[in-house]
Amino acid sequence: MPAKAKAENPSATSIERLSSISRELAAQLNPHALVERILQLTLEAVRATSGSLLVLDEDGHISVGALAYGGKIHEHTSQQLTDTYERGLAGWVVEHRQPVIIPDTRLDKRWLRRTDSDNDLESNSAVCVPLLARDRVAGVLTLGHPGASHFNPEDLAFLRVIGDQAGIALENAQLFEETQEARQRYAALFEDNIDPILISDLAGTVTDANHRAETFLGYDREALCGRAMFSLHVPDAERLPDDLSQIGVGEAVAYDGRVTHADGHPVPVQVHITRVEIGGHPLLQWILRDITERQALDELRADLTSMVFHDLRSPLGNVISSLEVLQSSIPPQDEALQSVLAISMRSSRRLSRLVESLLDVGQLESGKAVLHKAQGSISSIIADAVEEIHPVAEAKGQVLHFTLAPADLPMIEMDVDMIRRVLINLLENAVKYTRGGGQISVSATRRPGEVCVAVRDTGPGIPPREQQRIFDKFARLDREGYSKGLGLGLAFCRLAVEAHGGRIWVESELGQGSTFSFTLPV
Ligand code: ADP
Repeated sequence: MPAKAKAENPSATSIERLSSISRELAAQLNPHALVERILQLTLEAVRATSGSLLVLDEDGHISVGALAYGGKIHEHTSQQLTDTYERGLAGWVVEHRQPVIIPDTRLDKRWLRRTDSDNDLESNSAVCVPLLARDRVAGVLTLGHPGASHFNPEDLAFLRVIGDQAGIALENAQLFEETQEARQRYAALFEDNIDPILISDLAGTVTDANHRAETFLGYDREALCGRAMFSLHVPDAERLPDDLSQIGVGEAVAYDGRVTHADGHPVPVQVHITRVEIGGHPLLQWILRDITERQALDELRADLTSMVFHDLRSPLGNVISSLEVLQSSIPPQDEALQSVLAISMRSSRRLSRLVESLLDVGQLESGKAVLHKAQGSISSIIADAVEEIHPVAEAKGQVLHFTLAPADLPMIEMDVDMIRRVLINLLENAVKYTRGGGQISVSATRRPGEVCVAVRDTGPGIPPREQQRIFDKFARLDREGYSKGLGLGLAFCRLAVEAHGGRIWVESELGQGSTFSFTLPV
């Protein structure tokens, strides 16, 4: 039979050899062992004496390899592998993605002439095939023999078939190794996590639990497995879909709930559920974060707020009304006494505004804002605020003026006291941050659907990158020469204006002063 025909119709023995080799390759999942086995089996199959097998990763770099000479696999250095690939026939075959037979290596410049003495058996003929896995060259197999023209087309056809099988086997082994690694990484993260984590199936039945979950819930892993997640905790029915399998990949469901420890005591937790894929199965991961401390802090804050509310607010109210009584009972011509009284009244009112705003920040933030809305006039609010601040501005040598244009400002449905405090806050800041001799002005303008109030000063200005942040709670700028506030004033202004459906912002240039504006819908 002519050589070519033989190549296309492999004999029965070579088919047997083929299937036994491919069975063996498919069973091997360790990439290193697989590489050596492929090289050994193919050396024997085509009676080659030397050879190399290089495995390439997705980026075309050598990940593993094996070298053989004298019919046996030998230890190698990574430099030897790189040389074989870069300077030898292997590189050419990978680049051209086609197998090649070289009858006489001495006449072919694609063949690397080895100079290392270990490799004494020179190959005078060679065959080289790419190992294809799907569309990718996953590796390259080169075999050599001291005799010229040792390899025939049948050997090449045989190696091509083996090459394809080997490519797939190599890729599977690499994927298997990567999956194993990912699994080990997850297992380590899971087991050593400081949060309790449980794994359940999509019906909510626990299939695994980490060490922390055991101590946190007071059951060992065996006792947890098989239990329903809902027998371990009270979920938030609103946040959780009826059918847990509706939680999609990449989606997370989180809510505050309560778990019950084996000894019966409840522990508040934040539950965080995500869908995970473990060993090819869709499962749910439940992280239970202990929020006992956070809840204790929330309670403390609520207690503090109500303490401020009751223990400061009402006595302050009494002080202010007593001062008012005093003021009306002292003759107006007693200027010295009247001015002392005026100072005490201003200071007490300031304190009272601070208390009210602190309370409002807490309430507005929690979304429980109770606005005492009534029809109010922006003009009279501005007049009140200016009157309140005027003495302070005057004492600092500042000029404070206000313009109301046009005169026909509409009445607005608002919490009058709250909006007055917003305006006083902005004015107080303007007075505080503007040096003596500066100018402060207030204006109100009518726009379609809203009224816009602006407070302009000639103070130090606010850098552009801070102009958003200053409206956050506790945000303050480090300013030399100014006393540090709490950073709550503008946060209160923003929350109050937004609760009215308006907007607040600042326009400013460093050294050129600032203009704080807010709108209220009409
Ligand atoms: P506080 O004044 O208590 O620090 P605020 O929330 O009222 O808190 O203001 C936040 C920051 O914004 C202040 O620390 C200040 O640096 C800056 N700021 C506020 N108003 C002005 C203003 N009119 N001019 C310059 N800087 C201002």
